[in-house]
Amino acid sequence: MINISNIHKSFGNQTVLSGIDLHARTGDVVTLIGPSGTGKTTLLKCINLLETPDQGEIEIDHVKIKIPITNTNEILTLRRKTAMVFQQYNLFRNQTVIQNIVQPQVLVKKTDKHTARDRAEKFLKEVGMQDYYRYYPAQLSGGQQQRVSIARALALDPKVILFDEPTSALDPELSKDVLEAIRKVADLGITIILATHEMQFAEEISDQVIFMEKGQIVESGSPKQIFYNPQNDRTREFLKNYV
Ligand code: ATP
Repeated sequence: MINISNIHKSFGNQTVLSGIDLHARTGDVVTLIGPSGTGKTTLLKCINLLETPDQGEIEIDHVKIKIPITNTNEILTLRRKTAMVFQQYNLFRNQTVIQNIVQPQVLVKKTDKHTARDRAEKFLKEVGMQDYYRYYPAQLSGGQQQRVSIARALALDPKVILFDEPTSALDPELSKDVLEAIRKVADLGITIILATHEMQFAEEISDQVIFMEKGQIVESGSPKQIFYNPQNDRTREFLKNYV
């Protein structure tokens, strides 16, 4: 379970997030949509404290952090409950697929190599990439690389995976494979929060869609509500080219 309340973030005198609240149940897929520069990536980064919010509260799986952070150990505890998958550049180019998944477990989780390898194989299978474990990232398509990134995130045993535009570098056919892999992650009971510009993807994958503009949540609801019965004029305007 995730509860985020009243997150504020500015860079210099530019306010990027002003008072974001978000609630997600275990295994929910929550999608952030909205115009470019609206704060979606910044919100994802605030959730795992890659960026420190100026104000607010973040609770993930019973670990609650209030800003300002007084105990820095809390940062690590919260980070261990999250993993982040970016659009690109996720994998170490000079390591094979299996090394990419084993090493973070050994370094971050202090898992022994043997166990880490077993887990890597298990999660590669989960995303349909078990036949590629000896490959280097450059030998894989974008969608395959993205699925390996997902396996790597899963191997760290997070409660939440944050995805920043997971399909934007992919053609539609490859996007489908990534969508499938993300669905599987949610089926494993992991909460997903993702930012995307692809409305069809958002419609297909989400339990909850959040429309953000200028650092605020304008409207949130089920995909059906947001895409087919939006209540706010700004949501309607943003989506007019989609439906
Ligand atoms: P997009 O859909 O284009 O990815 P976004 O909604 O994810 O956009 P953000 O990347 O969160 O938007 O950026 C929101 C605003 O914050 C932008 O104006 C951006 O320039 C600014 N910003 C983000 N990170 C920083 C930073 N580290 N320093 C200064 N400004 C930043």
